[in-house]
Amino acid sequence: MSQNEILPKDKENLDVLSGTQEIIKEALSKLGYGPEVYELLKEPMRTLAVRFPVRMDDGTVKVFTGYRAQHNDSIGPTKGGIRFHPDVTENEVKALSIWMSIKCGIANLPYGGGKGGVICDPREMSFREQERLARAYVRAISQIVGPTKDIPAPDVMTNSQVMAWMLDEYSHMREFDSPNFITGKPIALGGSLGRDTSTARGVAICIREAAHVKGLTLENARVVVQGFGNAGSYLAKFMHDAGAKVVGISDAYGALYDERGLDIDSLLERRDSFGTVTKLFKNTISNKELLELDCDILVPAAIENQITMENADNIKAKIIVEAANGPTTMEATKLLAEKGTLIVPDVLGNSGGVIVSYFEWVQNNQGYYWTEQEVENRLEELMVRSFETVYKTAQARKLDMRLAAYMVGIKRMAEAVELRGWV
Ligand code: NAD
Repeated sequence: MSQNEILPKDKENLDVLSGTQEIIKEALSKLGYGPEVYELLKEPMRTLAVRFPVRMDDGTVKVFTGYRAQHNDSIGPTKGGIRFHPDVTENEVKALSIWMSIKCGIANLPYGGGKGGVICDPREMSFREQERLARAYVRAISQIVGPTKDIPAPDVMTNSQVMAWMLDEYSHMREFDSPNFITGKPIALGGSLGRDTSTARGVAICIREAAHVKGLTLENARVVVQGFGNAGSYLAKFMHDAGAKVVGISDAYGALYDERGLDIDSLLERRDSFGTVTKLFKNTISNKELLELDCDILVPAAIENQITMENADNIKAKIIVEAANGPTTMEATKLLAEKGTLIVPDVLGNSGGVIVSYFEWVQNNQGYYWTEQEVENRLEELMVRSFETVYKTAQARKLDMRLAAYMVGIKRMAEAVELRGWV
């Protein structure tokens, strides 16, 4: 399909895996790689599906389904988060593992991409049920993960506590403590300073850089953030502290809007551990309305397929920086690019999380820990370099930022599989 061809709404592809495969194909072909490289990289090299029992608090046993996908290990071990969510599917986990490869490629981290997910709703489970689920999942995937094979991290509805249980379970199985098995851990167990805010910090750096190239100042810029979890809530705080006006935020249950700017500090204090806060308010708007608000900067920080051909034409933001993975369909990306909206794609926008996860793993391997300032300085350096590389590629080749990011991100892996003689 040509760059500018816009599909009708009913033909829009909402399947994240085939959407990803399309863009990988285009990126590899623009880089001059043949069909064999695409054939190898279009799917993860390994996907494990597991079913495992968990004893619930009432004494019954529930059987859960989970996945772990490893895209490609030609560069180094695979790396990526684990999500607990009722809508997890095998295709989603596969696509997410490919996106991790692209992120690691853009930031030049010595990893391929991995991802895991369990179909469950932790909001309806007790603390101890979540612990038993986390431990059982690690036992189920233990054969294919490890500090030099595949290193998990948090994602949607998993956090540092879940990482702590997973680390403990893995260390029991291996009979020695393995802090480098997993990242996003609590500090007391070998976590890195600055990891909890790293995704949001990276998004904030991209917003600053994008605003700069668009000639927009952050002071009083109107910002809308969809999702108020780990990524969205800290981002709202960083934007607020930078002098921008956060006029809208949302969670799974609705959205809040105030054209004068919301009181982010108070919302942060009142949100629960799943990033829910709107339930405490009466005057809410819908997530659909939130995305279409008049604003300068829009940050989707919740789930996939939020900006589609259904609403892309109504989006007013000048800059979209994707904190969530896959919030914009490929077709909507093209429509917005035609309108002149600058989209900083997920594989660049939210890469601060995996960058500081890499720093955490390096610190664990060295047994030597950095100050928060050192972490922030190194993150700043890598994010700015990544943004510049992708932006310059997009400008030089007259491409949207997403395609440019995929070209930058897949290049090293395509080179590696050829050098290893795999294709
Ligand atoms: P989280 O679970 O902490 O928060 C998710 C937020 O999205 C919550 O506020 C939730 O209420 C909201 N939400 C869920 N469903 C929604 C819906 N249908 N409409 C609107 N809001 C909804 O998750 P997180 O860690 O902040 O991750 C959010 C996104 O960022 C995901 O796409 C994730 O893959 C991506 N991401 C996160 C990190 C990280 O380090 N946390 C790193 C990279 C990418």
